[in-house]
Amino acid sequence: MVSEYDLPCSECGDSLVRAEVTTADGSTLTVAECRSCGGRYYPESTLQQI
Ligand SMILES: [Zn+2]
Repeated sequence: MVSEYDLPCSECGDSLVRAEVTTADGSTLTVAECRSCGGRYYPESTLQQI
């Protein structure tokens, strides 16, 4: 099974890394973040937590 973390950034093609972000309500989400352009991608597993 391919996860979002295994996919390249759709903006610049660089690899994505896991990053945690804090939402406005104080909860923490794990996202896939591009270190090159700052793009963030929300995996389906993260969206299901909301
Ligand atoms: Zn990028």
